[in-house]
Amino acid sequence: MKQFHLTYENDKKFLNKLNEIREWCEYNSAYKVIFRIYSDDMEKEHIAHVCDLLDENMPNALYFGCTSNANILDGALTETTILLTCTIFEYKSTQVKLLQYPFTEENYKDAVDNLKKHCEENPWVNSIEMHATIMNMSMKGYCDEMSTLRKDIQVFGGGAFNPDMDDETAYVFSKGNGFSQHGIIFLLLGGENFHAYSTFISGWKPLKRRFRITKADKEVLYELDGKPAFEVYKRYLNIEKNENFFSNTLEFPLFLEREGVNILRCPLSVNDDDSLVMSSDMEENAYVKIAYGDPDTILNSIREDGQKIADFQPEVIQTFSCAARRAFWGDMNISKETIMFKDVAPTAGFYTHGEFLRMDDNMLNFNVTLVIVAMREGDPVGEKVNFNGPTFKKLDKIPMIWRFVSFIEASTAELEAMNQKLSLAAITDGLTRLYNRAEIERQINKALERAADEANDDRVHLIMLDIDNFKKVNDIYGHKEGDNVIIALSDILRQVAEELPQASAGRWGGEEFMLLLEGNSTDEAMAAAEKIRESFSKVAFESAGHQTVSVGVTQMQKGESADKMCNRVDNALYMAKEAGKNRVIWLDA
Ligand code: GH3
Ligand code: MG
Ligand code: MG
Repeated sequence: MKQFHLTYENDKKFLNKLNEIREWCEYNSAYKVIFRIYSDDMEKEHIAHVCDLLDENMPNALYFGCTSNANILDGALTETTILLTCTIFEYKSTQVKLLQYPFTEENYKDAVDNLKKHCEENPWVNSIEMHATIMNMSMKGYCDEMSTLRKDIQVFGGGAFNPDMDDETAYVFSKGNGFSQHGIIFLLLGGENFHAYSTFISGWKPLKRRFRITKADKEVLYELDGKPAFEVYKRYLNIEKNENFFSNTLEFPLFLEREGVNILRCPLSVNDDDSLVMSSDMEENAYVKIAYGDPDTILNSIREDGQKIADFQPEVIQTFSCAARRAFWGDMNISKETIMFKDVAPTAGFYTHGEFLRMDDNMLNFNVTLVIVAMREGDPVGEKVNFNGPTFKKLDKIPMIWRFVSFIEASTAELEAMNQKLSLAAITDGLTRLYNRAEIERQINKALERAADEANDDRVHLIMLDIDNFKKVNDIYGHKEGDNVIIALSDILRQVAEELPQASAGRWGGEEFMLLLEGNSTDEAMAAAEKIRESFSKVAFESAGHQTVSVGVTQMQKGESADKMCNRVDNALYMAKEAGKNRVIWLDA
């Protein structure tokens, strides 16, 4: 595989370069030539003119391309408005096929169906490069469809862009198919000697605090945790609704968890109702986290992934970088991210409106990422090279942003732990650490609801217990010893509950307790009750000696209320007391 880069400035220069390429092709008897064209010049006629020159001068070459935010040449942002890369395949076994289809939310499925047909007919396909006009279009359906492609096919690419964010016009175009404002292009690549390796780099880091998307429709994010989405930016980041909104939020996009991968979404603008227009579709009930861009983190992750690219020993590297990254770094610094790749292989690409990458089976539409594709024909040749990661002076001080992040994460973790403690305290009885009355009542209600839903499940039992002659314990041995007796019974209840498949123990009042069992037979419930009574009677207290407990047991009747069931088990307990205490009494409906 051989790669030339050329730019269009005027016909003369351009034709000279084309000649050079043609001669190289003839000399090397290369027979498959593909031009990729990226243009941040939105004048269709200008791009069409370049296409005409290719048609006339290299009629056998394929070409395709799209409009871009800006172009990447030799790994760096270039001022060139129309950039062409020319890839020449040298292996006879390498195959390419170019497809272009209309692409809207209504007919994306036709495009994918056609693509699938081509993939079935051409088992050699192992990679698909794609460009599409995607502005203001939800990619969810398309990505879902693409995820069902043959498993061994990689897909990567970028969305066509219009540098003017308010202008939705963007184009894709290809040889023989002309220009489309609502189109998608697939370049099918493959053959036994064609190899591609694709990866993505984000470098943005999520903060731990999660927000649930409680309302979203396509790319409009209405609510997070039930509140207008903008409030998150206002409240936590002090970002205002003004003309700087986009550039301010750019440093803090949202991480959306999808198919186990964290993908970034940028807020582009804020609506009057405080909903946010995001860079791609969101998903109700998914979770998002605020992410922060930190230059050192970004460069570090490039160094890691860059080495993997270098190890692949590519002959060509393509970069699809989000236009948001360019805005984040600024034109002075953006090239830091990609410049080192040119030492590995010829590197070119463009700044996109959204990056695409298939990971495992899942087709993902990213934002704020850098998708890098390494390509090679045949086996690697020569020595592996070290990836010269972006160098930055060794930091003897951790940058301030990391200290703040560390502070925020630590405080959040402490608050979360405190919250957990508080929620536990709210449902627990202080002396016995069993559930308190309110909680065990709630659980009884829940259990009855659950059982009512399941047509024939009446395997809910209640066991109610009351310590016998407890007043005497207090009166004779003191309140402290009384507490010890209560705690001892509670420990036994906890232990028995743990041994049962689904049981909760709660303190009903003073020295009265309730044990809720689900999914046990009556025999099992009676055995549990008897076990508690017997174990308790065997405990030897320091001064109070042996004590006893009376126990009532009953079973849920179809459709009855918690009150009714509790009354019955209370009656059973009363009967146990009447019958002489220290016993278990079963009471049927
Ligand atoms: P019976 O066998 O009929 O149940 O007789 P009893 O003496 O247990 O009767 P009763 O249920 O009226 O007595 C409950 C006593 O439990 C009254 C109250 O002072 C005591 N008590 C309630 N809560 C606590 C507690 O947290 N600690 C201690 N030590 N005593 C408590
Ligand atoms: Mg009592
Ligand atoms: Mg009692």
